[in-house]
Amino acid sequence: MKTADVIVIGGGIAGASAAAEIAADGARVLLLEMESQPGYHATGRSAAMYEPSEGAPIVRALTRASYSFLSQPPEGFVEVPLLSPRGVLMLAFGGNERLTEEAKRNGYVEVDAAFARAKLPLAKLDDASSILWDGSAQDIDVDALHAGRLRALRRAKGEIVNDAPVRRGQRAGGVWRLEAGGGTYEAPTIVDAAGAWSDQVAQSCGVAPVGLQPKRRSAAIIAGPAGVSVSDWPEVLPIDISFYCKPMGGKLMLSPAEEEPVEPHDTWADDLRLAEAAAGLERLVDMQVHRLERTWGGLRTFAPDGLPVVGFDPAVDGFFWLAGQGGYGIQTSPALSKLAAALIARRDMPADLAREGISTEHLSPRRFR
Ligand SMILES: Cc1cc2nc3c(=O)[nH]c(=O)nc-3n(C[C@H](O)[C@H](O)[C@H](O)COP(=O)(O)OP(=O)(O)OC[C@H]3O[C@@H](n4cnc5c(N)ncnc54)[C@H](O)[C@@H]3O)c2cc1C
Repeated sequence: MKTADVIVIGGGIAGASAAAEIAADGARVLLLEMESQPGYHATGRSAAMYEPSEGAPIVRALTRASYSFLSQPPEGFVEVPLLSPRGVLMLAFGGNERLTEEAKRNGYVEVDAAFARAKLPLAKLDDASSILWDGSAQDIDVDALHAGRLRALRRAKGEIVNDAPVRRGQRAGGVWRLEAGGGTYEAPTIVDAAGAWSDQVAQSCGVAPVGLQPKRRSAAIIAGPAGVSVSDWPEVLPIDISFYCKPMGGKLMLSPAEEEPVEPHDTWADDLRLAEAAAGLERLVDMQVHRLERTWGGLRTFAPDGLPVVGFDPAVDGFFWLAGQGGYGIQTSPALSKLAAALIARRDMPADLAREGISTEHLSPRRFR
């Protein structure tokens, strides 16, 4: 049997970041991951974007509050920049006036065709009623961020156990006892950062679910047009977000941006939706998609109100929720993990998060009870 002060369940970006922050407070932290390596699910399958113009106001506030960590990580955290410039070009067509106004309120600015062509020479702009630009959007080096968190956890004497799916948890005498992958683990506080499986983990510990809904999103790698370097292209998408496309690893990532409700599982891509996205891309950019070189699917997991769930369960002692990050779990991970560590150490809301108008009530699981 292993004991710790805090056990974090799930080694995606949420669990890895929280575990590192909690360990930095001096707590003995154990991270239990169901797969043979952390980062196998949503975290390893994202579009790797930092987009402060996207999401509900609270999500945008969490994204802004995460900027300082991502742009200036602590000394020795990583050897490469975590953020690099990208930008988003959004094209609107007749009848999208309401969405256009909303995008502008969230930070997009209207630009002319010359500006758009300078960013994306092959853009088809003739039918566009508005051309919108978000210069604040950046690429995140997700691998470096995630690996940096796991390294920081180990440096702070935290331990990571892979192949350890938590199947059952019981609380007795002020301590949780978890059974996971043939081992038994004990700690007074457990953190449920199991992504799409967070409600299942809660139920296996006798805690009522909050009503999380995983939604599948497909993605593919495609080649850019022959002889054209696409690495500096911005992300490009239509204003109804029926798909998006962005450079990734010297090629292009294409996603139909679907939100298909599913049960938690090791998901895969919907090829039909990807074919529709390819047709959409050909209408916006003067290129042809000949084949999907590699495809994958990932789960974005939402609470009933679409906002993250962060805080102690009000009904069961020592059970902390860190779930429901939806499509923004990478870009909000610095703020959410800082908040989680503060609440677990019974500290006040961190000042930089409070300055952004974030309160514990916005995110507490109490709102579903
Ligand atoms: C196609 C796509 C594009 C996206 N693009 C972006 C983007 O551009 N920017 C952004 O910020 N976000 C994006 N996201 C969302 C982002 O990927 C997620 O919000 C984030 O990765 C969630 O992290 P997590 O740690 O909560 O979940 P996960 O990464 O899924 O981690 C949960 C972990 O818990 C483990 N686990 C589950 N059950 C158990 C158990 N019983 N015992 C032990 N371990 C368990 C799993 O194995 C997994 O490793 C995107 C998502 C998708 C699918």
